[in-house]
Order: sequence, then structure tokens, then C-alpha cells
Amino acid sequence: MRKPDVALLVTCEHGGNRVPSEYKEWFADADNVLGSHRGYDLGALAMARTLTGRLDAQLIFATVSRLVVELNRSTRNPRLFSSFIRQAPAPIRREIFERYYIPYWASVQAAVHRALERRARVVHVGSHSFTSVLDGRVRDADIGLLYDPGRAKEVALCTHWRDAIRRRAPQWHVRRNYPYAGAGDGLTTELRRCFPPTQYIGVELELNQRHPLTGGSTWKTMQREVAAALGDALEA
Ligand SMILES: [Zn+2]
Repeated sequence: MRKPDVALLVTCEHGGNRVPSEYKEWFADADNVLGSHRGYDLGALAMARTLTGRLDAQLIFATVSRLVVELNRSTRNPRLFSSFIRQAPAPIRREIFERYYIPYWASVQAAVHRALERRARVVHVGSHSFTSVLDGRVRDADIGLLYDPGRAKEVALCTHWRDAIRRRAPQWHVRRNYPYAGAGDGLTTELRRCFPPTQYIGVELELNQRHPLTGGSTWKTMQREVAAALGDALEA
């Protein structure tokens, strides 16, 4: 059983590659890019749903493409908008920002606040996936767990989670703060500025896209075991 003072929140910023019809003109000939890892995180929403289905958790997700607006970047980040949308006039970008970015971030922040009214702390897991080959380099991990090395509870959770995955499924290579650093710019890092480490434990799960691409029973097993292992880690 999970400790009763912990609430679990799962988010998926890159859950789909939808382009709302009013912005399609900026994406002429972009179908290939939209269908690639640049458009969305293949498998990440399925993983997020498995986590929330198997553990008592709230799910917040977006299906608008990261090429429309990048929900896992802070407002200061120059890559908030892709090269496609940077061609659009400023009022269009402002409209996209107000329609998709602000409500998403506000809903995640409100969910953390609400959970903290009832529980002592919130564990927030952002569900993501990464392309198995980037710029010709093969990424050797199956699963990445991202956290801020300066936040002891995040380090502990990811260590327990990694160990639990290894116990349940030793065939998968789990790496911490790979393929990205957990303290880099993004939603989790911004939430760390809003909530103290005693109340907010923010981590990101990164799955290698070769597993959802292959699909089948191995992919199903991976989702199930990663979720079960998080359950183990939350009890530890
Ligand atoms: Zn992502």
C-alpha cells in the first residue's frame, strides 16, 4: 500500500500530434515531421493511462502537437514555438499560448494545490518517450528516470523505482537522468520553483520509442511492469 499522505499526479505534455484546423496552414507538408518524435511522444499517453489505471492517480494530458506549442518548456524558452509556428504572426502565437499553454499549466498547478489540501505531498510523474536514434547515435537505455539531483526525495524515488524495475524486468536497461537532465527547463522544473521539496516530488519517465513502435506483448508488459514498479517505489 502506498503511504496515505502521498497523492500521485500523472501528466502527459506530448500525448498527441493534433494540429487544430485554424493553424493547419502553418503545417503544409509537415505530415512526416508531425508523425515523428518531433511531433509527439509515441506511447507516452498509453503509459500515462496505464499508470493512472493501475495506481490511484489523477491524469492531465494534452494531445495538441508540441510543434504547435511546446508544453514542456517555460515561457522564457525560445523554443516554446517551433519553426512552423514562428512563421505565424504574433497574434496567432499569442492566441495559441492563451488557448493551449496557459490552461494546461494552470490545470497542473491547480491539481498540485488541490492534492496538497488533502495530502502531505504530491508525486508528479510526467510521462514522455524518446526516439531510439538521434542524429545517428543509438540511445542505449530502454527507460530513463529524470529528477533533480539536488532534491533528495526525487533521488530516492527514482532509485527505488529503478531498482523495482530491475527486479521485475532485468532485461531492460534503466538509466537515471538519461537521455536528458531532470533539472533542465520544463514543467517539472518550473513546479519545483512553486512548491518546496517536502511537498512536491517531480520526476519524468522517458521510454524508448522502439518499444511502442514494436508494440505487442512486450510493450504491454513494459507498461504494466513500469507502473507496478512505481507502486513498489511509492511504498518504499
Ligand atoms: Zn516528451
